[in-house]
Amino acid sequence: MIKPDGVSGNYTEEIKRIIVEASFDIAKEMLTQLDKETASAFYDEHSSRSFFPDLVTYMTSGPVLVMILEKTNAVSDWRGLIGPTDAQKAKISHPHSIRALCGTDLQRNCVHGSDSRSSAEREIKFFFEDVVSGDIASQHDEL
Ligand code: ADP
Ligand code: MG
Repeated sequence: MIKPDGVSGNYTEEIKRIIVEASFDIAKEMLTQLDKETASAFYDEHSSRSFFPDLVTYMTSGPVLVMILEKTNAVSDWRGLIGPTDAQKAKISHPHSIRALCGTDLQRNCVHGSDSRSSAEREIKFFFEDVVSGDIASQHDEL
Protein backbone atom coordinates (compact mmCIF):
# COMPACT_ATOMS: atom_id res chain seq x y z
CA MET A 1 0.00 0.00 0.00
CA ILE A 2 1.13 3.50 -0.78
CA LYS A 3 0.02 5.50 2.27
CA PRO A 4 -1.47 9.01 2.17
CA ASP A 5 1.88 10.82 2.33
CA GLY A 6 3.18 8.73 -0.58
CA VAL A 7 0.12 9.42 -2.74
CA SER A 8 -0.15 13.13 -1.90
CA GLY A 9 3.62 13.54 -2.30
CA ASN A 10 3.29 12.27 -5.88
CA TYR A 11 5.48 9.21 -5.32
CA THR A 12 3.08 6.75 -6.92
CA GLU A 13 4.72 6.59 -10.34
CA GLU A 14 8.24 6.35 -8.93
CA ILE A 15 7.23 3.60 -6.50
CA LYS A 16 5.51 1.68 -9.30
CA ARG A 17 8.67 1.95 -11.38
CA ILE A 18 10.65 0.45 -8.48
CA ILE A 19 8.04 -2.30 -8.12
CA VAL A 20 8.22 -3.28 -11.79
CA GLU A 21 12.03 -3.05 -11.89
CA ALA A 22 12.14 -5.44 -8.93
CA SER A 23 10.14 -7.96 -11.00
CA PHE A 24 6.83 -7.73 -9.13
CA ASP A 25 3.61 -7.95 -11.07
CA ILE A 26 0.84 -5.61 -9.93
CA ALA A 27 -2.09 -8.06 -9.99
CA LYS A 28 -4.68 -5.61 -8.70
CA GLU A 29 -4.77 -2.03 -7.57
CA MET A 30 -7.31 0.29 -6.03
CA LEU A 31 -7.11 3.96 -5.12
CA THR A 32 -9.29 4.46 -2.08
CA GLN A 33 -9.92 6.79 0.84
CA LEU A 34 -9.92 4.93 4.15
CA ASP A 35 -12.46 5.99 6.73
CA LYS A 36 -11.81 5.75 10.46
CA GLU A 37 -13.56 2.42 10.82
CA THR A 38 -11.69 0.81 7.91
CA ALA A 39 -8.26 2.11 8.96
CA SER A 40 -8.90 0.96 12.53
CA ALA A 41 -9.92 -2.51 11.37
CA PHE A 42 -6.93 -2.78 9.05
CA TYR A 43 -4.52 -1.96 11.90
CA ASP A 44 -6.51 -3.83 14.55
CA GLU A 45 -3.35 -5.62 15.78
CA HIS A 46 -2.07 -2.22 16.99
CA SER A 47 -5.34 -1.04 18.56
CA SER A 48 -3.97 -1.07 22.10
CA ARG A 49 -0.82 0.90 21.24
CA SER A 50 -0.47 4.54 22.25
CA PHE A 51 0.28 5.55 18.65
CA PHE A 52 -2.95 3.98 17.33
CA PRO A 53 -5.20 7.10 17.30
CA ASP A 54 -2.51 9.09 15.48
CA LEU A 55 -1.97 6.18 13.08
CA VAL A 56 -5.67 6.16 12.19
CA THR A 57 -5.66 9.94 11.68
CA TYR A 58 -2.62 9.60 9.40
CA MET A 59 -4.09 6.72 7.41
CA THR A 60 -7.35 8.60 6.82
CA SER A 61 -5.66 11.90 5.87
CA GLY A 62 -5.89 11.24 2.13
CA PRO A 63 -6.22 8.52 -0.52
CA VAL A 64 -4.11 5.36 -0.41
CA LEU A 65 -3.17 3.09 -3.30
CA VAL A 66 -3.71 -0.56 -2.38
CA MET A 67 -1.97 -3.14 -4.56
CA ILE A 68 -1.63 -6.90 -4.75
CA LEU A 69 2.00 -7.56 -5.67
CA GLU A 70 2.93 -10.92 -7.15
CA LYS A 71 6.36 -12.47 -7.18
CA THR A 72 8.17 -15.45 -5.75
CA ASN A 73 8.99 -14.49 -2.14
CA ALA A 74 6.90 -11.36 -2.55
CA VAL A 75 6.34 -10.80 1.18
CA SER A 76 9.98 -10.78 2.22
CA ASP A 77 11.24 -9.15 -0.98
CA TRP A 78 8.74 -6.28 -0.61
CA ARG A 79 9.59 -5.82 3.08
CA GLY A 80 13.24 -5.65 2.06
CA LEU A 81 12.50 -3.12 -0.65
CA ILE A 82 10.52 -0.78 1.62
CA GLY A 83 13.08 -0.84 4.44
CA PRO A 84 12.61 -0.46 8.20
CA THR A 85 9.48 1.02 9.81
CA ASP A 86 11.23 4.21 10.94
CA ALA A 87 11.84 6.22 7.77
CA GLN A 88 14.35 8.40 9.57
CA LYS A 89 16.44 5.32 10.39
CA ALA A 90 15.85 3.97 6.88
CA LYS A 91 17.53 7.06 5.41
CA ILE A 92 20.70 6.08 7.27
CA SER A 93 20.68 2.29 7.27
CA HIS A 94 18.78 1.61 4.00
CA PRO A 95 19.26 4.75 1.86
CA HIS A 96 17.99 3.03 -1.30
CA SER A 97 14.78 1.78 0.32
CA ILE A 98 11.34 3.16 -0.53
CA ARG A 99 10.78 4.44 3.02
CA ALA A 100 14.08 6.33 2.78
CA LEU A 101 12.89 7.80 -0.51
CA CYS A 102 9.48 9.09 0.54
CA GLY A 103 8.99 8.55 4.27
CA THR A 104 9.49 11.11 7.01
CA ASP A 105 9.60 9.40 10.39
CA LEU A 106 8.40 6.43 12.45
CA GLN A 107 4.75 7.13 11.64
CA ARG A 108 4.82 8.75 8.21
CA ASN A 109 6.69 6.05 6.33
CA CYS A 110 4.79 6.26 3.02
CA VAL A 111 4.28 2.56 2.32
CA HIS A 112 2.87 -0.56 3.94
CA GLY A 113 3.90 -4.16 3.44
CA SER A 114 2.34 -7.33 4.78
CA ASP A 115 4.71 -8.88 7.30
CA SER A 116 3.93 -12.57 6.65
CA ARG A 117 2.13 -14.84 4.27
CA SER A 118 -0.86 -15.04 6.61
CA SER A 119 -1.12 -11.26 7.00
CA ALA A 120 -0.85 -10.93 3.20
CA GLU A 121 -3.80 -13.31 2.85
CA ARG A 122 -5.79 -11.37 5.44
CA GLU A 123 -4.98 -8.01 3.87
CA ILE A 124 -5.76 -9.17 0.32
CA LYS A 125 -9.16 -10.37 1.51
CA PHE A 126 -9.64 -7.19 3.52
CA PHE A 127 -9.43 -4.99 0.43
CA PHE A 128 -10.33 -7.36 -2.39
CA GLU A 129 -13.09 -9.58 -1.12
CA ASP A 130 -13.52 -11.13 -4.54
CA VAL A 131 -9.92 -12.37 -4.69
CA VAL A 132 -9.19 -15.79 -3.28
CA SER A 133 -5.52 -15.45 -2.42
CA GLY A 134 -4.93 -19.14 -3.12
CA ASP A 135 -5.68 -18.38 -6.78
CA ILE A 136 -2.75 -16.02 -6.84
CA ALA A 137 -0.50 -18.22 -4.75
CA SER A 138 -1.09 -21.14 -7.07
CA GLN A 139 0.54 -19.20 -9.91
CA HIS A 140 3.70 -18.66 -7.86
CA ASP A 141 5.44 -20.45 -5.02
CA GLU A 142 4.98 -17.60 -2.57
CA LEU A 143 2.81 -14.55 -2.35
P1 ADP B 1 5.38 -1.88 9.67
O1 ADP B 1 4.52 -0.93 8.87
O2 ADP B 1 6.85 -1.71 9.34
O3 ADP B 1 4.92 -3.30 9.58
P2 ADP B 1 4.21 -1.82 12.33
O4 ADP B 1 3.31 -2.91 11.87
O5 ADP B 1 4.97 -2.04 13.59
O6 ADP B 1 5.27 -1.42 11.20
O7 ADP B 1 3.35 -0.48 12.52
C1 ADP B 1 2.34 -0.15 11.64
C2 ADP B 1 2.45 1.33 11.31
O8 ADP B 1 2.19 2.10 12.50
C3 ADP B 1 3.86 1.78 10.88
O9 ADP B 1 4.09 1.57 9.50
C4 ADP B 1 3.83 3.26 11.23
O10 ADP B 1 3.11 4.03 10.27
C5 ADP B 1 3.04 3.24 12.54
N1 ADP B 1 3.89 3.11 13.72
C6 ADP B 1 4.50 1.99 14.16
N2 ADP B 1 5.17 2.20 15.31
C7 ADP B 1 4.96 3.50 15.62
C8 ADP B 1 5.36 4.34 16.71
N3 ADP B 1 6.13 3.88 17.71
N4 ADP B 1 4.97 5.64 16.70
C9 ADP B 1 4.18 6.11 15.71
N5 ADP B 1 3.75 5.38 14.66
C10 ADP B 1 4.14 4.09 14.60
MG1 MG C 1 3.20 -4.16 10.26
